[in-house]
Amino acid sequence: MPGKTPTKSRRQTAREQLQETMTREICEIINRTGLPPVEVLRLAAQAIGSFYREAARMHSDPTACECGWRPQHPLDMDKMSAALRSACRDDAENDLESMPVLGRA
Ligand SMILES: [Zn+2]
Repeated sequence: MPGKTPTKSRRQTAREQLQETMTREICEIINRTGLPPVEVLRLAAQAIGSFYREAARMHSDPTACECGWRPQHPLDMDKMSAALRSACRDDAENDLESMPVLGRA
């Protein structure tokens, strides 16, 4: 059904896959480039913003994707910003034990 809210298990699966993949990639980039973690995370945020912009464009045309999602720019920005702020808090529910150790070259 277009626009249907994802079930919790689908969200959890997506969250776990993103956490695992992004953690591995970010650690690899930090180790390979020697850039500070916060700089690599800033670049990751830019990449997510670029992805959002492209997805929004693909869902805004008259020939838009038929999945039913339509961008709501201010609201979408607020949701993404809130998710980032929440996840950065010390008391956030994070699965730290699944994250690889951050090594330095
Ligand atoms: Zn779509």
